[in-house]
Amino acid sequence: MSLPPITHCTTRQDCLEHDRADPLAGLRDQFDLPAGVIYLDGNSLGARPRAALQRAQQVIAQEWGTDLIRSWNKAGWFDLPLRLGNQLARLIGAGVDEVVITDSISINLFKLLAGALEMQAALPDGAQRKVIVSERDNFPTDLYMAQGLTEWLDRGYRIRLVDSPQELATAIDAETAVVMLTHVNYRTGHQYDLPAVTALVHAQAALVIWDLAHSAGAVPVDLQAAQADFAVGCTYKYLNGGPGSPAFAWMAPRHHAAFRQPLSGWWSHQAPFAMQPGYTAAEGIRRMLCGTQPIVSLALIECGLATFATTSMAALRTKSLALTDLFIALVERRCAGHGLALITPRAHHERGSHVSFVHPHGYGVMRALIARGVIGDYREPGVIRFGFTPLYIGYADVWDAVEVLRQILDDQEYDVAAQQDAVT
Ligand SMILES: *Cc1c(COP(=O)(O)O)cnc(C)c1O
Repeated sequence: MSLPPITHCTTRQDCLEHDRADPLAGLRDQFDLPAGVIYLDGNSLGARPRAALQRAQQVIAQEWGTDLIRSWNKAGWFDLPLRLGNQLARLIGAGVDEVVITDSISINLFKLLAGALEMQAALPDGAQRKVIVSERDNFPTDLYMAQGLTEWLDRGYRIRLVDSPQELATAIDAETAVVMLTHVNYRTGHQYDLPAVTALVHAQAALVIWDLAHSAGAVPVDLQAAQADFAVGCTYKYLNGGPGSPAFAWMAPRHHAAFRQPLSGWWSHQAPFAMQPGYTAAEGIRRMLCGTQPIVSLALIECGLATFATTSMAALRTKSLALTDLFIALVERRCAGHGLALITPRAHHERGSHVSFVHPHGYGVMRALIARGVIGDYREPGVIRFGFTPLYIGYADVWDAVEVLRQILDDQEYDVAAQQDAVT
């Protein structure tokens, strides 16, 4: 039996056959997804691994309830940020003791940007390097953190925002201290060529900070091969760590010794329990920490990372591209004439793992989809966004989601004046 190429699927049966032939189909059993829901928002909040419930019970009942303070040593709470970082490392091409899980992306960006600016200021031409390059369409918190830090430093730093990836080559110059970019754009799903942009940055003796929020666990990333400098990312999106689970930060080992971060809390001290009045930074990636970690939330990340244990990012990428190819093809075929405009790149090398369309009544359309159990999300302006997590989404799910979208558009079932919730 030969399967039709994925973009030639014209029936639900075709999609089911692709599901039957899918070597990753069994991974879905690791997740507890509610009946009647097609979950296309794993790019915003990953689904719950089945194992997380039992792990939460263990942390709360045994480690906290019974073992109490002894768990810092006995259950290994103290080393969790590095231990989990080492488990995550292979998903982003990082080495041992280069990744730490702690705080949020926003806070980690603040620490990395501050440290990177200081390293650049120490260069012979450091006084001229006053520009941080980013893009206007970056995730807002990344820009807000850069703005807040530079205003607070008050040392003449400027933020230069490009309006398109093509402008980067000219925007990065001898005035550039740091380039701060999100690898896969949260709105469009556009993916940068991480090695090529890193090389562009280094050619101007600048440093790069990559935000991997929509990349880690979604697309293959090899930070070491690209010789990147710094990276941050979420664990609650594609890594399925749980709502608000702490973020990760990565630093190339060649920067460990020179890097100083401004939030010099005791967890980043060389000897936190020596209780000395003076601060000396720990060696290595531990110096990225600040204070006591949220252990309950941190512990559950292990369950999310474990869902990747029996597969590879290469295998997941192959399926992710097939899912997004299928979705784009079906929407364009079955929902034609309804004013949907694709804003996600068609070229595979420029695409992440989500697909976005603009619609004049995007918010109302997404509300109607969610009411029918097809959960994606909405981003201004007018963007409906669908995340495809190959760990738990199949080809028939894509068919069914497009069928619901088609019905909603055909019947104009959406509310054109829907009031927005606080979280969209
Ligand atoms: C989701 C996301 C964030 C979230 O930052 P937090 O500090 O964890 O709230 C930041 N940057 C990007 C690019 C994101 O997609």
